[in-house]
Amino acid sequence: MRDVIKGQKMKILAGTPAAFGFAKGTVCLYSNEVEDTLPHYTIDLGQIPREVNRVKEAFENARQEMKEVLKTAESQLDKSAVEIFNIHLSILNDPSLLENISQLIEEQKINAEHAVSDIFDQYMKKYETKSEHFRELIHDFIDARNRLLHAFNIETGKFKCPVGIRRPVIVAAKRLTPSMVLSIPGRNVLAFVSEEGGFTNHATILARSYGVPIIFGIPVEKELDCGMKAIVDGLTGKVIISPDAKTEEYYARKIKNREKKAYFCEIRKTVPPRTKTGKRVKLKLNISTPGEFNFVRELPHEGVGLLRTEFLFMGRNQPPAEEEQYRMYKRILHENREKPVAVRVLDIGSDKRPSYFKIPERINLDLGLRGAMAVEKFPHIYLAQMKALLRANVYSNLHLLYPMVSDPNDLKTFRNVLSEAKRELKKAKVNIDNVRIKEGIMIETPAAAMMVDILLEEIDFVNIGSNDLLQYTLATSRGNTQVEGRYHIMHPALLKMLEMIAREGSKAGKEVCLCGEIASFEEFYPLLLEIGIKSFSVAASKFSDIKCELLHLQESPDKIPVAEFYKLGSKEEVDEYFRRFI
Ligand code: PEP
Ligand code: MG
Repeated sequence: MRDVIKGQKMKILAGTPAAFGFAKGTVCLYSNEVEDTLPHYTIDLGQIPREVNRVKEAFENARQEMKEVLKTAESQLDKSAVEIFNIHLSILNDPSLLENISQLIEEQKINAEHAVSDIFDQYMKKYETKSEHFRELIHDFIDARNRLLHAFNIETGKFKCPVGIRRPVIVAAKRLTPSMVLSIPGRNVLAFVSEEGGFTNHATILARSYGVPIIFGIPVEKELDCGMKAIVDGLTGKVIISPDAKTEEYYARKIKNREKKAYFCEIRKTVPPRTKTGKRVKLKLNISTPGEFNFVRELPHEGVGLLRTEFLFMGRNQPPAEEEQYRMYKRILHENREKPVAVRVLDIGSDKRPSYFKIPERINLDLGLRGAMAVEKFPHIYLAQMKALLRANVYSNLHLLYPMVSDPNDLKTFRNVLSEAKRELKKAKVNIDNVRIKEGIMIETPAAAMMVDILLEEIDFVNIGSNDLLQYTLATSRGNTQVEGRYHIMHPALLKMLEMIAREGSKAGKEVCLCGEIASFEEFYPLLLEIGIKSFSVAASKFSDIKCELLHLQESPDKIPVAEFYKLGSKEEVDEYFRRFI
């Protein structure tokens, strides 16, 4: 343990929040690296069959163990865990893995454990260069490898200091893996902090069910050590080491307020939220992965505010066929036929770039080929999607959502494809007479924000995509850690645009729904309601917290000074402003 801990000055580390909440406690490092304990030795020619057999047995044992774990997850109706463990089982069932490991033992005459580790490393390296979806699989490979090594009696994960097994701690690791998360009892975790990670990777999804803050992007190995006192702020993504008295007191207040609110909301969870003046506030769900479909039935939401269809198009060699899309859309539309479901037409560009979209090398993906431009370049892909949606919408409540629309001409481009889809279906004698759809656009560019009054004349509703709207307003890439400091999630310029859009929506009598990440931050709600936004769409993991905040605000006597917010000039001033209203 480092000897600088005592008397260390307060230090703030900035990462990316993946689950909300605040925690104060002791850091405990968790490691699942196996290099130190892994035996490496060479073998004779005659020992090869024995080592290959050991690998076969290890696979068999690991698969058995995995099946048991799956059974437990199924009996506990833990759907996300079942999905994840099924992925681990399919990795262990992949015959090429066993073949490659056996071949390596024969060629290099090395022991079984060594060969297992080397082949898994090779697989994981391959995924490192792929899209985000595949990179997430690396953590699943680590878990599958560790299960195999476990079958050789090799210890693959442990706390570096004993405190972690005895009492609740801030669990810090280079990376979280699903089985690591599940191996630590929930009551022992105050927060998860990791170096690598992602908002949607499997370990994060599981960790989120613990209801504790999660932050990734923190240099754990360099900055954290067992026994350090720290505060984890899952709102701003900060880990504060050795907090001073003022900071401690500030967070103690936040933690206490949250506990009070949780009780208040538990007894009101079925009550629909309203503004202080009694106007209804809508809270909807964002769905970005098929795994999140399950929440649609469980949460008291008012529709799907944003279905990101990109997940259907990513991680494959060709676009999904119309039939496959039809089945998926039908499922979600049918299950929600009483409520609106806003399905966003494929939003391509930036980080969402399937390999079959042949995009010229030098094109800037943030600015070069998005929205209507992509429709013009790949019309057949959009046509198949629109046809699938029209077919799936019979007797349902489809709200068709066009991404990245900046002006009426962009809208026309999407509508031309919709008309063509209708024509083709009619020609094929598919009955779409009962199909009623509403059309809306994502407001994600400053142009769309400035033109919102004109655009509202043509459409039924708008969704504000604040993630992109902010990056194009501040000329600062989203999701780029190099410029994270400038991507200033609640910027006065953004709020001004939101206020204008809300005002125009209200004049036109049309719904304005905020569905970017900004809507996941409870602290912003007093301001968002005050400027007139009354419809929000958030990820399932944030739904209950936001609902609670809305119920709470409805009864709170405090008023937020909006004019004062517009005068703020820096991120620090903005942070300070929100601190005052906790
Ligand atoms: C947004 O830009 O705010 C949005 C909701 O769309 P996405 O995050 O999918 O780009
Ligand atoms: Mg967007």
